[in-house]
Amino acid sequence: MEKSKMSMETAVIHRGYDSAKHHDSLATPLYQTSTFSFATAEEGEDRFAGNTEGNIYSRLGNPTVRVLEERMADIEYGEGALAFGSGMASVSAILIYLTKANDHVLCSRGIYGCTFGLLEIMEEKYGITHDLVSMVTEEEIEAAIKPETVCIYVETPINPTMELVNLEAVIKVANRHGIRVVVDNTFCSPYLQNPLKMGADFVLHSATKYLNGHGDVIGGILVGKDGQEMQHLRMTVQKDVGGIMSPFDAWLLLRGLKTLHVRMDRHIANAGKVLQFLQQQPEVKKIFYPMDASHPQYDLAQKQMAKGGGLISFELEGGKQEAQKFMNALSLIKIAVSLGDAETLIQHPASMTHAVVPEASRNAMGISDSLLRLSIGLEASDDIIADLTAAFEKTATKAKLQEI
Ligand SMILES: *Cc1c(COP(=O)(O)O)cnc(C)c1O
Repeated sequence: MEKSKMSMETAVIHRGYDSAKHHDSLATPLYQTSTFSFATAEEGEDRFAGNTEGNIYSRLGNPTVRVLEERMADIEYGEGALAFGSGMASVSAILIYLTKANDHVLCSRGIYGCTFGLLEIMEEKYGITHDLVSMVTEEEIEAAIKPETVCIYVETPINPTMELVNLEAVIKVANRHGIRVVVDNTFCSPYLQNPLKMGADFVLHSATKYLNGHGDVIGGILVGKDGQEMQHLRMTVQKDVGGIMSPFDAWLLLRGLKTLHVRMDRHIANAGKVLQFLQQQPEVKKIFYPMDASHPQYDLAQKQMAKGGGLISFELEGGKQEAQKFMNALSLIKIAVSLGDAETLIQHPASMTHAVVPEASRNAMGISDSLLRLSIGLEASDDIIADLTAAFEKTATKAKLQEI
């Protein structure tokens, strides 16, 4: 089947795998091997020279991992993909690849905490500087470009405030300056947003989240629009830095990925119901969800995202104490970071994922002490809402008792 003729729902199940080449096994086999043997010394020489195709050593490529890479390249509209041992391994690979000493990286106003940590290390050690700026209009992006800027690195929606980056504007400005665009697409998954299709150069994912969806793998994927460049990356930064994905994790990911579209539909439908419920709660001060008509960038969300996704942040009346009390009053909903799992998860950004961000910067980013982030799972929406209802009742009663 031609690439363009296979829809995403079919590609996540079939792309990149031919059972005839694997003893007719319906499921992709797990090639749990570190190395591959050559029939002759000459064959080994040819493979190393790149004259013949074939496996050499699993850090340079593994048949199970390759199926996942081909599948991901296809569903993200790229020409090549590389799998890594974590989302952060893919972030570090692309940043090492794109930068040299004294370059500048322009970032969206919010980026994943460890990505920020990596950029701080790069600044300290190699003088590679970075700025975090709002990226809504072309003008503000243009104004932040420096002569030494080599790439624009963005996440959208931004965690946990769901602020959006205007991808079209970012790509326009980057093209004008001949610089590269990297999008961390973890929050959306390929089901909601395809930045390569819009003209970005690289898309990466923490495969730990929606791609796997079952909370049992840490992994990362980097997809690029240029197949030759991705092969070059495979044989340089990936091979030599070495943060590869294990065959077993790729095998689990292939299983998880098969239901991406089915799971995303349910995450989104459940999120819609929880959103409606939260909108009716007097204790909820503010809600952050891209496809909520009250979101300041609702129009942009409709333009660049297929749907709103499975993450909802909301602010309660009160401060940290009220937020923690509310979390402790939940029972079905688990207190945990990460996202995109079957289980509904709640976390408190100010004391968890964003605890390292100084309070003043947190406030400037809109992360108050009473902000909570929900990753809506696949349970019955009635049960999720019942758990939230019970927590609102319990915390409200406690507040009333304290008044008396
Ligand atoms: C989790 C996450 C990462 C890091 O991925 P790991 O798999 O934990 O290394 C990067 N970016 C975003 C947006 C994430 O949510």
